[in-house]
Amino acid sequence: MRKKIVAGNWKMNNDLTESQSLITEVRGIIRDELRLDNVDVILFPTYFALPSCVRLLEGTGIHSGAQNCHQEKSGAFTGEVSASMVKAIGASHVIIGHSERRQYFGENNETCNSKIQAAVEQELTVLYCIGETLEERESNTHYDILKAQLIEGLNDISAQQLNNVVIAYEPVWAIGTGKTASSEQAQEIHAFLREQLTTKYGEAVAQGVRILYGGSVKPDIAKELFSQGDIDGGLIGGASLKARDFAEIVRAAQ
Ligand code: PEP
Repeated sequence: MRKKIVAGNWKMNNDLTESQSLITEVRGIIRDELRLDNVDVILFPTYFALPSCVRLLEGTGIHSGAQNCHQEKSGAFTGEVSASMVKAIGASHVIIGHSERRQYFGENNETCNSKIQAAVEQELTVLYCIGETLEERESNTHYDILKAQLIEGLNDISAQQLNNVVIAYEPVWAIGTGKTASSEQAQEIHAFLREQLTTKYGEAVAQGVRILYGGSVKPDIAKELFSQGDIDGGLIGGASLKARDFAEIVRAAQ
């Protein structure tokens, strides 16, 4: 039985004060209305708000993480933050390979792999994002693309290290567009990804890996998505910016 995950990716939204009030609101609703025994909740604010997030969530059972990290520990990489720095402020998770990083910042499977190596070395839990574009889906190349993203991103990651890796399937055509993959479409891809993990790591290991769906998840469709056999929760963008919507998605995962 895999524990579900609901993660909120705030992207470049909310200044420090706004972040603090959203964290406080989410924390309050979860404390008063929800249980965390069968779902892991993670908030990913900007780097700027992350130390505050860690402090505000202390003792609540809600986790915090960074939206990215650099693969090197330190050095002349202006504007970057390393995995060890994320770890040092007390965050537990990091998103790697979000499609916006791939699209706007030139990240590829190889860069993602170096970042995953750096993050697992720090014992951060990685949410590794993969997903096809509309063009790739329409030309029926999406299975090859997804397989390459998965396998190249996990190059040299051992079965032991995979305990610290969660896969997030996020079709690019569904991110921020209001177009969600149907639960059948998503389940089909999740099953395919688990099959690829089985080939690489064996059945027992692959069955333990959590695979999240991301792409315009809203409270009204969350339950249906999360009830699919291979969908272990969601990575939520837009809807995570509203405390009530995000909390309802957490409720759907319970
Ligand atoms: C995301 O950014 O990871 C995401 C899934 O965004 P949205 O929910 O807004 O589509």
